Amino acid sequence: MLTKLLIANRGEIACRIIKTARKMGISTVAVYSDADANALHVQLADEAVHIGAAPSKDSYLQAQKVIDAALQTGADAIHPGYGFLSENANFATLCADNNIVFVGPPVAAIEAMGSKSAAKTIMQQAGVPLVPGYHGDDQSEAILKQHSDQMGYPVLLKAAAGGGGKGMRQVWKAAEFSEALAAAKREAMSSFGDDLMLVEKYLTQPRHVEIQVFCDSHGNGVYLFERDCSVQRRHQKVIEEAPAPGLSTTIRQQMGEAALQAAEAIGYVGAGTVEFLFDADGSFYFMEMNTRLQVEHPVTEMISGQDLVEWQLRVAAGETLPLQQSELRINGHAFEARIYAEDPDNDFLPATGLLSYHQPPQESAHVRVDTGVRQGDQVSVYYDPMIAKLIVWDEDRHKALQRLSQALVDYRIKGVTTNINFLYNLSNTKAFQQADLDTGFIEKHQQQIFQNSTQDIEASLPLAALYLLLAQEQQSLAAHAHRADRYSPWNSHSAWRANEVHQQVFELELYQQQYRVSVQQVSRGEERYFLIDSGKRQVTASGCLSNETLIAVVDGHRISAKVHQDNHDYSIFGREHALHFSHVQPDFGLHNSSDHPQGFNAPMNGTVVALLVNPGDSVEKDQPLLIMEAMKMEHSIKAPSAGKVSEFFFQAGELVDGGAELLSFEAETTAKETP
Ligand code: ADP
Repeated sequence: MLTKLLIANRGEIACRIIKTARKMGISTVAVYSDADANALHVQLADEAVHIGAAPSKDSYLQAQKVIDAALQTGADAIHPGYGFLSENANFATLCADNNIVFVGPPVAAIEAMGSKSAAKTIMQQAGVPLVPGYHGDDQSEAILKQHSDQMGYPVLLKAAAGGGGKGMRQVWKAAEFSEALAAAKREAMSSFGDDLMLVEKYLTQPRHVEIQVFCDSHGNGVYLFERDCSVQRRHQKVIEEAPAPGLSTTIRQQMGEAALQAAEAIGYVGAGTVEFLFDADGSFYFMEMNTRLQVEHPVTEMISGQDLVEWQLRVAAGETLPLQQSELRINGHAFEARIYAEDPDNDFLPATGLLSYHQPPQESAHVRVDTGVRQGDQVSVYYDPMIAKLIVWDEDRHKALQRLSQALVDYRIKGVTTNINFLYNLSNTKAFQQADLDTGFIEKHQQQIFQNSTQDIEASLPLAALYLLLAQEQQSLAAHAHRADRYSPWNSHSAWRANEVHQQVFELELYQQQYRVSVQQVSRGEERYFLIDSGKRQVTASGCLSNETLIAVVDGHRISAKVHQDNHDYSIFGREHALHFSHVQPDFGLHNSSDHPQGFNAPMNGTVVALLVNPGDSVEKDQPLLIMEAMKMEHSIKAPSAGKVSEFFFQAGELVDGGAELLSFEAETTAKETP
């Protein structure tokens, strides 16, 4: 049995591992960087050791410093979590050299799976089905292109050392090959220090289905079923679920056995995940094996009733697997939604800032929140911007999805931009409810998910105005309740005046645009309704608001929705999407109302990678002008309209601070202004 465990990680996964270790009576040691001195994982652990400066290359990736911390505190084992040193064979070797148990597979297994190319060669020999492609050593552009041409487009370029969707580019036609290869290699080199590439046939509508395997050092192996991780942005998982909807028992078994075959081929021990692409016709192809605990492991825990970190610690201590295959069962359905500090409306650009308000939903048998942050913490540029994993469980997919939707409504964050609204809209699309999944899901359903078509705005404005009006009435009633004269007109916040046509005008902001909506109250005896005119559409509406629920009837269509108000910001959580808007307060001349300057500012601290046009060249709307790299991902700055760049303020290779102006742009004057 292990007695003291050092966790070579941070954030939610460090906290999650500490919880299980504590449950098993194992004491814990955290490591931390300058940026994490007061982090949650440091507070939860029994001891903590400082290992360096904020950038991970100076702290969490410093293998020797981590080993020294273990030796200094007398830890007999190290759990690497995921990311950082978790799949680093040198680190595992260093642990062994220092008589420290590495909670992970043998060094040889990590090495075997470390390169996607080498892994494919091993799997080919072991008879595991592969996606057609080229994973050879000859890396000349001519050879890579020749294989792509032969295979036929689209193809996918992948960094052999890749992970997290980085160093990957789709190529749709031969003419795009050269540019895509350069970009993929550049990203791979900066992320992994290695730009070896492989090419695969790009399957256009596959699902990502992965199998959780577990092996002990006594020759036993089991699979704990599958997870469907098809919903991805930038080839990175956003919502995962278990079991995979619609997978037959036969295919589940075939995939489980193929995954175990893959594990056996490399003498695997511990927790591992074999990722497959699953095609519409039921065929599946090996993609890669991750030799560590996955971010999305909680969905497997929820449906199997097992604690995978406990299994890892037992196996690392030399015990046999707690259960055999025949003892494992799937119970119910689970989802995990990754709550990120990022801006879905701006190409999912990572966001940073102070988490000034953080209120996750209440945890229960149905809701689990794995997080490593608290209110008041900083989401910094140094690490992955994931704030939490929201995990829900229920007896079947339909019920679990309702839990997910409710938990997303209840998840409240302020201070940083998050993807919560995006997750809510996504999980409430019909296609997601019907489990019509594939890896192109987000692109395919972007209209509903990002919900900003003219039609949506027309439908949203009257509802927003109605809610605002009812909320205003509610506030004024509450104010009256505290006054001596409850009926004094001086306490009224509304614009209603006795014996007049009651009209009130609201300035609303939604999707970064302002709208004026006028509301007229009509009273007929006991009956009261509103005529709402948004300039785009006139409707008749009535409704009531109580206990954060809005019941509204707009042109005879009744809806009931959860609502939330935070100062001047309002949210309506409808059946298919959430609507967020603000009530613009009258400007009493305090603000300069001149037009907003055209923003070409660096989205965050980073490096200018390339200038794509020459100053003075004519460019088209949406043409990329400049590429920046921040948090190891490339972001392009695009032309907002036809025009030309008059000047770039930085050259390729220069470091820029977040917010710095990157270039000046002149819009083409003859172009028609779009409102
Ligand atoms: P990483 O290790 O960077 O996460 P993976 O090889 O696991 O990269 O692939 C990530 C995702 O990219 C997959 O889940 C899938 O959506 C997509 N993908 C990978 N290979 C292919 C392919 N050949 N065809 C279509 N999509 C693919």
